[in-house]
Amino acid sequence: MNRRLRQAFQLIILLLVIWTIWTAGDVEKYCPMGGILGLGTKLHQGSLPCSMSSAAIFMAIALLFGALAIGKLFCGHICPVGSITEWFGKVGARFNLQFRLSKLWDRILRSLKYILLFLVVHQTITASELFCRKFDPYFGAATGFGHDTVLLWSILAVVGTLVGAIFIKQFWCRYFCFLGAASNMFVNIWGAVLVFGLYFVMNLLGAQLSILWLVAGLAFSGYLMEVGLFRSIPFPAFKITVDQNQCTQCGICSQSCPYDISVQEFEKVTHPDCVMCTECISSCSEEKAVSINGSMKLKYLPAILLVALISLGFLLADRYEFSTLEKRWGKFEQMSSPAAYEQTNLKTVKCWGSANSLYNFLKERSGIYGLDAFAPSHRVIIYYDSTEISEEGVKKALFSPAVFRVRNISDTDPLRLAVWEVGIDNLFDSIDHNNLYLALSQNRFIYGVETYFGEPVTARIYFNSDSTSIAEIRREIETRRLEYEINGQLQVAELNFSCEGSGNMLTPISVAEFNRLMFEGFDLTFNDYDEFAASQLRIYEIGMPDAVDPAMADDLLYLVSGLSAEDGVVRFQTVLTDRPVARIYFAPTKTDSAKISQILFASTISYFIDENTTATIDNFFSFEKPIRILEVR
Ligand code: SF4
Ligand code: SF4
Repeated sequence: MNRRLRQAFQLIILLLVIWTIWTAGDVEKYCPMGGILGLGTKLHQGSLPCSMSSAAIFMAIALLFGALAIGKLFCGHICPVGSITEWFGKVGARFNLQFRLSKLWDRILRSLKYILLFLVVHQTITASELFCRKFDPYFGAATGFGHDTVLLWSILAVVGTLVGAIFIKQFWCRYFCFLGAASNMFVNIWGAVLVFGLYFVMNLLGAQLSILWLVAGLAFSGYLMEVGLFRSIPFPAFKITVDQNQCTQCGICSQSCPYDISVQEFEKVTHPDCVMCTECISSCSEEKAVSINGSMKLKYLPAILLVALISLGFLLADRYEFSTLEKRWGKFEQMSSPAAYEQTNLKTVKCWGSANSLYNFLKERSGIYGLDAFAPSHRVIIYYDSTEISEEGVKKALFSPAVFRVRNISDTDPLRLAVWEVGIDNLFDSIDHNNLYLALSQNRFIYGVETYFGEPVTARIYFNSDSTSIAEIRREIETRRLEYEINGQLQVAELNFSCEGSGNMLTPISVAEFNRLMFEGFDLTFNDYDEFAASQLRIYEIGMPDAVDPAMADDLLYLVSGLSAEDGVVRFQTVLTDRPVARIYFAPTKTDSAKISQILFASTISYFIDENTTATIDNFFSFEKPIRILEVR
């Protein structure tokens, strides 16, 4: 590729990466290193790290295939770190700041990237998290040293990479880049083939070596192949060649080589650092002295192959999605009537952890024996035996009904609440329910919602019919975009609910019935509650009007902390009887109701910050007598 053309290509790729980060906020969407790690994790434990996309995996396959066929094309044309450090290297060269390390030091330092490769792969495939994020200069810079980075490591990596490149050509790539190390294994494929062969033969003989032995062997062989400059014949099939009859040994090709390879010393450049950038071909003034496999016609082959491989990667990523989690259990192999149900738009499945939670939930359901979860597209496929459970039953198993209060009822609100029942399309999981809450909370005359399984899911909405109408409620539900604040930060939710038909008005309910429906009890045990038999405890019960307010749940922790200082108090709960009450369980041998009343009616509450430190807040709780002492049943 012409030098200017290649530089333009690198710049365009860099701008595209910045644009992808800016618009999608996903810095690893197409990262081949993430793809390699994702593939390793998938092969090792059948799961993918949360942030891994199919696009990254296909990019990794394209990169490795490219390395096998022609060389490290990604490094020389696409990698943002490679491009930027190459430009920093040019600055260093202009000011004569560059030097070469001795061969011995060069060989010793080259081992670092293989050690890093082993550590990164080991940590990632055993913990299903991308360990390289902690120090990777690309990830650190692209996320602004955000979540998952270790700040000091990341800053050192970014500064070291840029400053190092000024003095030593491609400093990061030579000594630290674990993606370069992985690519080198494919450039020098025979070492990797030997290790793979040994691994499988030893396991066939019963050695039971884990995949980490394979990774360690591959890293070690990669290092040996690199420092030994072992030739790999016939792969990669295409190499830079120098016609020594045409060459005048002027050295311009070596000076222009971003990797500081002494090009003119080779007849066939088998140096593992060569990225097939073709700078040496472009810089040589002697016609046909430097070429690919002796042919000038092949000069554009690396660029053409690179574009073809990337296009193929995008095409495959568009057609095929790797599953985040695949699980089979119980009678999966013996199902008498196997069937599969696909549920899309399940937004709660957003990473490996949530997919695994769904697996733990489903394996307890009879008739269901398998799960494939696809976190990036929020999609699951559930395998079931249709003689044991129907498709409707599977859908029902996936659905969790919800009851939630939108706002508290004040004294000025009506004594009876209207109830509108309506089917809502695209309402299914807990994230949808949260979005529905946000939408309905825009209307201050809506008090609560209950949802039931159905197709679509049915919602009962409790509201003040004197102050708002069905049309207004429908408008809130069918809002497409919602802006709201969390801790002063503006958030945006994109919604796509729609109400099915006109719904039904049900019989209005009283405020007392509504409170009973919405009541969420609070219950916490402490001070060795489990050590006491029921007969050793009593219940101190007192009216607590605030107990119906879900917003009080966090504040109750102060009160419970204050009560826990009294040794014989062992449990606190809120219950709705004929009124909202607090129930405090205590051991009469250790404390009494007078001491509990003293804590409840004090003007301040003393609570624990840690085991030995306390702080004080005003007691803002109100309690209503009478107090009743009950037996524990
Ligand atoms: S030898 Fe030529 S193709 Fe290889 S990295 Fe150096 S300049 Fe690029
Ligand atoms: S630039 Fe051309 S002539 Fe000069 S050393 Fe390199 S291959 Fe030989």
